Amino acid sequence: MVKLAEWRGKEVFRKYGIPLPRGHVARSANEVESLVRSGEVPLPCVVKAQVLAGGRGKGGAVKFANSPEEARSAASAILGLSFKDETVKEVLAEEKLPIAKEFYLSVALDRALRLPILIASAQGGVEIEGVADSAIDTQPVDPFPGITGYERRRAARVLQLTGSLAGELDSILRGLWNLFQGEDAELVEINPLAVVEGHLLALDSKVIVEDDALFRHPEYAEIQDDRTPLEEIAREKDIAFVQLDGNIGVIANGAGLTMATLDVLMELGGKPGVFLDLGGTDDPKKVTEAFLLMAQAKPRAVFLNIFGGVTRCDTVAKGLVEAMKKVPDGERFPLIARIRGNNEAEGIAILRSAGVTSLRELEESAKAAVAAAQGGRP
Ligand code: ADP
Ligand code: MG
Repeated sequence: MVKLAEWRGKEVFRKYGIPLPRGHVARSANEVESLVRSGEVPLPCVVKAQVLAGGRGKGGAVKFANSPEEARSAASAILGLSFKDETVKEVLAEEKLPIAKEFYLSVALDRALRLPILIASAQGGVEIEGVADSAIDTQPVDPFPGITGYERRRAARVLQLTGSLAGELDSILRGLWNLFQGEDAELVEINPLAVVEGHLLALDSKVIVEDDALFRHPEYAEIQDDRTPLEEIAREKDIAFVQLDGNIGVIANGAGLTMATLDVLMELGGKPGVFLDLGGTDDPKKVTEAFLLMAQAKPRAVFLNIFGGVTRCDTVAKGLVEAMKKVPDGERFPLIARIRGNNEAEGIAILRSAGVTSLRELEESAKAAVAAAQGGRP
């Protein structure tokens, strides 16, 4: 998924007519100071860390300033900061507005309902996590008409808006819906949507674009996200590969089995360090590529947990044996395999003859992987 930083999200908001404070992104304290001096960012102003994590307001990553000097020092204090494991490289400097009220508004994809939902609450702002469910209104949205007139009126009632403010909300909701569809978003959130001098403005933005639709949005390709270099290579090769903190590599097929395998390893005291989802592939070339990528992540041991349904165990095993030969000497690791299903016996035979520990039960094989990573013999 591509998660846009606030300033990028706000650029998208602008494109869809959602009203915003005046502001600019900046990458140095100098730049912030001159934006304020030139009046491009009016005073008083706010300097906000551009990280993907939320909770910046409460976490000291949003600072207010009344002069160019203060704006400068706010920026120096925030730039370079490590906020929830992200280093702040950009800040958004924007006018500080007198807020009368803060609302929450979003359109999200509800995977259980298989529909977008419109979420509204009159109690928006930094305490949103603590707002009672009863104060949060959710309406499923039929994607074909989109957010309809009565749904927009219901949102206005939830936010207790009437007259011109209700009219502004109506237009914001149209923009929000057009954005959600037009950008193939899976989430568009405004928190807070603020009442400022009798008008509604989006003071924050959160936009997440659906990965599978990125081919329609080359403009998001340049966005640097939090992928590691290996994850980046994997993405280019269309391999589902994620790096974590631990030292056991996991190769499985299908998201469900992959997640379950991580859970079992954790349960047994192991620490998964990288996982790779082969999905439905048994293409030996793809398996080899994936395996070599895994080797580069330098796991202490690798646990292969494959269910052969459409994927044949013997083809996966052959691919693996080929791949193992290509791993450079210094990067070898103990491999514990559990392959079950279609052509299982052939697959196990191929692996065993190549010297791979090949066990049948999940628990015993996961235990062997944990032991191998801790330096014991698999
Ligand atoms: P986060 O959601 O990461 O905490 P926000 O952008 O929502 O960050 O900012 C946190 C709070 O800071 C907001 O709820 C709002 O009260 C205040 N704030 C943010 N931008 C402005 C602004 N331009 N003017 C005034 N207050 C602001
Ligand atoms: Mg916010």
